[in-house]
Amino acid sequence: MPLPSRKTSRPSGSLDRVHVLWFRRDLRLADHPALHAAAGTGFPGTGDGEPARVLPLFVFDPVLWDASGPARRAHLVDSLRALDEDLRELGGHLVLRVGDPAREVPALVREVGAAEVHVSADFGPYGRTRDAAVAAALDVPFRATGSPYAVAPGRVVKTDGTPYRVFTPFLRAWLEHGRPDPLPLPADLAWADTDAVAPPAAPAPAGVRLPEAGERVARATWEAFRAHGLDRYRELRDRADLAGTSRLSVHLKFGEIHPRTLLAGRVDETFRAELAWREFYADVLWHHPETAREYLNRDMAGMRYDTGPDADALFDAWREGRTGFPFVDAGMRQLLAEGWMHNRVRMVVASFLVKDLHQEWTRGAAHFMRHLVDGDPASNSHGWQWTAGCGTDASPWFRIFNPITQGRRFDPDGDYVRRYVPELRAIAGKAVHEPWRIGVPGYPDPIVEHAEERRVALDRYEAIRR
Ligand code: FAD
Repeated sequence: MPLPSRKTSRPSGSLDRVHVLWFRRDLRLADHPALHAAAGTGFPGTGDGEPARVLPLFVFDPVLWDASGPARRAHLVDSLRALDEDLRELGGHLVLRVGDPAREVPALVREVGAAEVHVSADFGPYGRTRDAAVAAALDVPFRATGSPYAVAPGRVVKTDGTPYRVFTPFLRAWLEHGRPDPLPLPADLAWADTDAVAPPAAPAPAGVRLPEAGERVARATWEAFRAHGLDRYRELRDRADLAGTSRLSVHLKFGEIHPRTLLAGRVDETFRAELAWREFYADVLWHHPETAREYLNRDMAGMRYDTGPDADALFDAWREGRTGFPFVDAGMRQLLAEGWMHNRVRMVVASFLVKDLHQEWTRGAAHFMRHLVDGDPASNSHGWQWTAGCGTDASPWFRIFNPITQGRRFDPDGDYVRRYVPELRAIAGKAVHEPWRIGVPGYPDPIVEHAEERRVALDRYEAIRR
């Protein structure tokens, strides 16, 4: 899939001025406002800076690197390799540095005599603090243009200026807000150059099938989904057994494609609303940065959860996909095998951990962040908080997913379970959701009794409500 590019004709070196373009969650070249701003194309909406040679930079920040699991690290390195290849086709290349950005970015600026540093704005709690530190350490301007979102967090507010906490009115206001069209790749790019260091080693974890990385793959995935999946998205998106969703989350996470590109032209309403959930959660996290780890609804922080060796053993069974509930186990094993899990199943396994095993959502969210290739603090923490009943317009706490009926409904023939739980492959049809009726050697009995745990969960909820 070619990028929507025009050939560069300005010879590198014909401009004295150098601008560093520091890539972070925007690993693409098309529809990239900060690239326009760095090159000084004067394209509407990208600033009116002076034309300059662009020095593309990526910094391996140990804080983010250490917080990512092996799957996300492997995807990052693959994505950077793809970005470097695309830059080389245009005559440039990616410069890599390893270390604290507040030290590495100013050092590079001094090394190449850059006049400005350009970025796409980061709205996450860590990214904001890091960017403030980098800007303070620079003696040249630090300019942010564009963001990973169609509408930047903080822009959609109620008429009284306060943020939304409920999705549907946010969606309405977000739709009304409008957004710019996607940008073309600038013509006439000129590049600056310096030595790059080698990226850290990041082998894909053994036995894990990761999605391919890079802007071209992201665009091809989108084109294929637009041609063959979008029409039936509304109908099939909840079916865990079918490929009914776009699988774009990982590409959005790394900015290999921008949501503006997905929202341009004719857009399916349901798909657009799902993209708006991503924007809503980023907005909520921007207004409440502490909710990456803390309760949005603080009243729920008093909920009694189980801890200790027995709880740890149950947690291990959950995370390894050995709960004896086939739909839950299939989801947890899909996460380990692919670094991704279907949205419906994410909700079911999250509900199971919090409401059947009585464990705090933060524990599950941390496990997800370690293994998800699309792991994103806003969507993950608030996806968990929504399911745990302590977040934005949460599913009421007393709505507790039944892992068996959810399986029968969203994996009606049992294909999803058989794909990820080989012990159950001999069971045909939907009987696979209740293997204890047959007795399958090698597959555990349910580790808890759902009806009983449901009662316990409701009692604890009543206790804090009182
Ligand atoms: P599609 O159905 O094709 O949706 C298109 C895009 O819309 C997605 O790529 C995603 O960017 C966005 N989207 C869809 N559903 C949601 C949603 N519920 N919340 C926010 N954005 C959504 N998504 C992440 O990107 N990163 C996470 O770390 C993450 N953690 C989650 C944790 C829990 C407990 C739950 C319930 C959901 C989480 N989600 C997360 C949301 C959702 O599960 C994934 O975005 C979705 O499964 C990705 O698959 P897809 O690209 O095929 O989605």
